[in-house]
Amino acid sequence: LILSLLVGCAPKEASAQKSLFCMDTVMDLQIWGKDCQEALQALETMLLELEKTWSVSDHNSLLSALNRGEGKPNGEQQAFMEKAMELHSRTNGAFDPKLHHVVALWGFYDKNYRVPDPQELALALQEEAWDMGAVVKGYAGLLSTQILDRYEVSRAILNLGGNIQTYGQKADGTDWNIGIQDPAGEGYVGTLAVSGAMAVVTSGDYQRYFIEDDRLYHHILDPKTGIPVNNGINSVTVICADGTVADALSTALFVMGLEDGLRLWQRSEDFEAVFLMKNGTIYA
Ligand code: AMP
Ligand code: MG
Repeated sequence: LILSLLVGCAPKEASAQKSLFCMDTVMDLQIWGKDCQEALQALETMLLELEKTWSVSDHNSLLSALNRGEGKPNGEQQAFMEKAMELHSRTNGAFDPKLHHVVALWGFYDKNYRVPDPQELALALQEEAWDMGAVVKGYAGLLSTQILDRYEVSRAILNLGGNIQTYGQKADGTDWNIGIQDPAGEGYVGTLAVSGAMAVVTSGDYQRYFIEDDRLYHHILDPKTGIPVNNGINSVTVICADGTVADALSTALFVMGLEDGLRLWQRSEDFEAVFLMKNGTIYA
């Protein structure tokens, strides 16, 4: 009887939830615990600051300034740029944070889509300019966990435009279940059970694309050719404690393809991956 009374009287844990449009995508933040409101506010501030800093469309962003040969990153921004370049080396260039001119040529920034001709592509490939689009949402996930550590919160689940960042465990002590989207439809092909501070990041050819002359051109480009990768992969999901690494690797593994991607996984200790192939095969 006492037990049931106690359970009946247990105060419901405070929670805070917010959806916002940031970095050209919808983000959903859900946090539980005493400081949930303050933590939510701090996360929102950080996300808007990141957007302001790394935006490709805002001429006042640090990224735009850097690409004009101006601007000076602070210590934290410099560290992020260096980490991106480390991931560039780790993936043998498959993740390339300096593809700005090539991405712009295809119209992926202003949605004025077009297929560039080979000479234009060759020129754009020679010019280096920053595009952190393949890594900034993952970085936001990593910074989120560092912010949440500073508050009294028990758990959080953040959907940063398809990049999922977990924190803690579900209220009943079980793992979070994160769905992997079916590239061909609305549903999920399966779920991943994760707990603690973990990033689950997917790069897919269905996320951003256009169709011209019956051909589909998606947004993940081979840095060697500047052309959308076509290697039988529909999507790659990476699970990693470091969101920045997860995001860079999901893009890189997509570019590298199944065989080279598996080799990178075999010699790494810090991530797991799921490949969805166009023929329906799943490699986990
Ligand atoms: P993601 O969705 O994380 O795979 O990132 C894709 C975005 O990153 C694209 O929309 C481009 O802005 C940019 N991008 C495309 N190809 C690459 C690449 N090979 N390496 C780094 N960034 C890329
Ligand atoms: Mg990525």
